[in-house]
Amino acid sequence: MIKFLDLQKVNAQYSDELKSAAAEVIDSGWYLLGNKVQEFENSLKNFQGGGNVIAVANGLDALRLIFKAYIELGIMNEGDEVIVPANTYIASVLAITDNKLVPVLVEPNLDTYNLDIDLIESKITSKTKAIMIVHLYGQISWSSELENIAKKYSLKIIEDNAQAIGARWNGVRSGNLGDAAGFSFYPGKNLGALGDSGAVTTKDAELAQVIRTLANYGSAQKYVNLYQGLNSRMDEIQAAFLTVKLKYVENEAKIRREVASKYIRSIKNKSIILPNYGENEEHVWHLFVIRTKNRDELHSYLTENGVQTLIHYPIPIYKQDCYKYMSNISLPITDMIHNEVLSLPISSIITKEEVLKIVDLLNSYKAIS
Ligand SMILES: *Cc1c(COP(=O)(O)O)cnc(C)c1O
Repeated sequence: MIKFLDLQKVNAQYSDELKSAAAEVIDSGWYLLGNKVQEFENSLKNFQGGGNVIAVANGLDALRLIFKAYIELGIMNEGDEVIVPANTYIASVLAITDNKLVPVLVEPNLDTYNLDIDLIESKITSKTKAIMIVHLYGQISWSSELENIAKKYSLKIIEDNAQAIGARWNGVRSGNLGDAAGFSFYPGKNLGALGDSGAVTTKDAELAQVIRTLANYGSAQKYVNLYQGLNSRMDEIQAAFLTVKLKYVENEAKIRREVASKYIRSIKNKSIILPNYGENEEHVWHLFVIRTKNRDELHSYLTENGVQTLIHYPIPIYKQDCYKYMSNISLPITDMIHNEVLSLPISSIITKEEVLKIVDLLNSYKAIS
């Protein structure tokens, strides 16, 4: 069986370094808010090429904290609207609704699966305060039109960078394009911890300070609480692991690009739609997503032939039980994407033979209808 993602094999590459990093933290007697988190924040800041970095407990919290901080600063208020792509992972929208802000779901572009920037302006109202863009599947979602719209209407741009660490748009890293960004280091992400972790990046030093305080009970000074905060801190042990793995993230992205390019050059089946991406973006291929009319049939065919594939994502957010009140909106492109997408295995440890086997299976697949 070719696994969708063999995490054991991913981390085995760095096992000696990870074990000594863990041993150092265990022996130090210091497990939170210490040197390891500081060291990781500095490493990520260098990787990004500047800005402020706040290590937090997970990617959802990173995004929640950005909105919470804007509310504390009086820049956003309960009931304000945030434009967000309708086909994202639910965490993007949970971060908005958790802060009593209103998500305005906008259809993605069918070529990139990222927010259709041409549709944004018609969704802007007097309550709109921000656009949350999601670099879905590791592909940059950005353009100068987007920058112009944000400027024209004084909107914040928040990047959900959970899937795209290392990607660039015209040389600028994802996470440094907008006003603030949330990163996830969930184990399966391109930079994966050995547990939950996340981070916020922002050029805005004041916002950074509020987020850092909010993530630590709303307290900058022990037992003095400025805000009704959260407990959302990164563990020292996860920070130590992430500092090790960050050194390899660029090389892993290079390998992912080679795998993606092999898939794109070699898959020749007319019933399969391959991913598209622009020249001025550096895609990091968190996921390699194809589309086909008979997705469930292709999924079963690959499973029967020993290839594990996943669906990102099977149910659109507006059709989830937790967002029942949205269920009457019409999002035909989003529906189509959720019905047709299938993610092929892609990672830094997939072998050439495995990729070839997957390509051969896809090329000999005949859709029933
Ligand atoms: C993974 C992910 C998140 C949430 O990250 P967690 O660390 O799992 O909380 C948010 N948005 C997107 C697009 C993601 O893929």
